[in-house]
Amino acid sequence: MNQRKMTDIPVQVFNLGSPAGTQMDFGRDALWSRMDSEIGFEAVNLPVFLVNPNQMDMLYPPEYRRALDPERTRKLLQEEALREAQKREREQETGEWRERREEEPDFFDRLQRSEEDQIGWSKYSEVIPVGLYLHLERCNQNFRSGVLKQGDENVRTAEAENTFLNHQAPAILLCCERIVDWANRLGISHHLVMDKVYYHELGHAIMDTLPDGAPNPYLKSWGRIVEESLANAIAYRCFKGKEARLVQRIMREQPAEYLPYLAVSKILVAVDWLGGLGLSEHHLKALLHFPQYDVMNLVAWKAFKKHRRTADRYTEDIWKDFAKHLLIEGVS
Ligand SMILES: [Zn+2]
Repeated sequence: MNQRKMTDIPVQVFNLGSPAGTQMDFGRDALWSRMDSEIGFEAVNLPVFLVNPNQMDMLYPPEYRRALDPERTRKLLQEEALREAQKREREQETGEWRERREEEPDFFDRLQRSEEDQIGWSKYSEVIPVGLYLHLERCNQNFRSGVLKQGDENVRTAEAENTFLNHQAPAILLCCERIVDWANRLGISHHLVMDKVYYHELGHAIMDTLPDGAPNPYLKSWGRIVEESLANAIAYRCFKGKEARLVQRIMREQPAEYLPYLAVSKILVAVDWLGGLGLSEHHLKALLHFPQYDVMNLVAWKAFKKHRRTADRYTEDIWKDFAKHLLIEGVS
């Protein structure tokens, strides 16, 4: 990449001090030809900063450091199924149907509690902070200078430093050492791992509809499940044939919230709520006959985030239910 002129490629790429960054090649035709126009639109708008693991660990928001271990999640889902069956049995016996009380923990409370010991994170801390879509405008100068200090001076240019210090908009960050390690672990090309990670981050850019200051659903495990499954689905749909199979091997290494990338095409979020998006019954019926639901779910998720401030408990429950079904498919 560093041998090419920037004008050869449709995006600006800056190395902030990652020696492995010199192995990343943004001039490859395959990288650009796999993108559809929606991903491409984000790609040409967002600069890419290549960083080393120390820099990525500084940049990666502490509140995002969570991961669902598939084994433990499967166990929790089994317990939940048992609990629900017992509840149904009780209801049949007594003839009474009782709604869950506000103060009773639900499945996602239990799930969230299960990640608090950080066992999941420690298991996946090398495969999650690999790429990051970040609102750089929210990072102050001191913090940015600190990130630069962690970079290898031999691969960092003055132009990269200046751009990083002055960029006041979102950007994509890629941790090249972790990309190369991931590829080596699986014995596949680091270009393919880079492309998967890059498309995934562009997926987050596509879904960036949350207004400033609105409560971020990503901070809840159900929100993270929906967002990460959709981001992986956006990345996955770029690949065909052998490459798609290799990408599935890459994705198999990820924690539970990333695994339902196929399920988002099979399960549609509650249809009665979709009606509230202003779609006619005719459109909804047409969609129900279209077996790929990922696009519809993506539209719905973007709309939900956009109107997050006014979302009620009912709407949130719809997404929780959707996330739970995704998780069941993802870890089974
Ligand atoms: Zn992600």
